[in-house]
Amino acid sequence: MSKTHNIPANLRRIVRTRAREICEYCRSREDHSTQSFCFEHILPRIAGGKTNAENLAYAWQGCNAHKATRTEAADYLTGKRAGLFNPRQMLWSDHFSWSEDFSEVVGITPTGRATVETLKLNRRGLVNLRRVMYAMGKHPPLEVDNRE
Ligand SMILES: [Zn+2]
Repeated sequence: MSKTHNIPANLRRIVRTRAREICEYCRSREDHSTQSFCFEHILPRIAGGKTNAENLAYAWQGCNAHKATRTEAADYLTGKRAGLFNPRQMLWSDHFSWSEDFSEVVGITPTGRATVETLKLNRRGLVNLRRVMYAMGKHPPLEVDNRE
């Protein structure tokens, strides 16, 4: 979890711009969000994670809160531990896809499935928002490569 006021303005701008103002986990758009976005430490500070562009992800508060200080979780399909999605090292489409109607995120790898479950990427409000956004022609967002 990150407190925005601890992060310099220029670093906030870099992270936000790199993400195209889209949550790097659930792919929700900031301009159609009712919650503010935050700067998420991919490796938590408690584990030595630094406050720099390489370790910060732009995320919806809900995704950030569910991730908390975790970096791995169980893949429900295999029961094995898997690292959570790291937007600085991984490409979203390598680990996730959309359901047929684009309303739900589907994990397609152990990392993808563990991340969908842990961050609750298919929260009811998110699924409903995606349906509305899809009808408006604003979902899904284009993929951007946010790796360092
Ligand atoms: Zn999100």
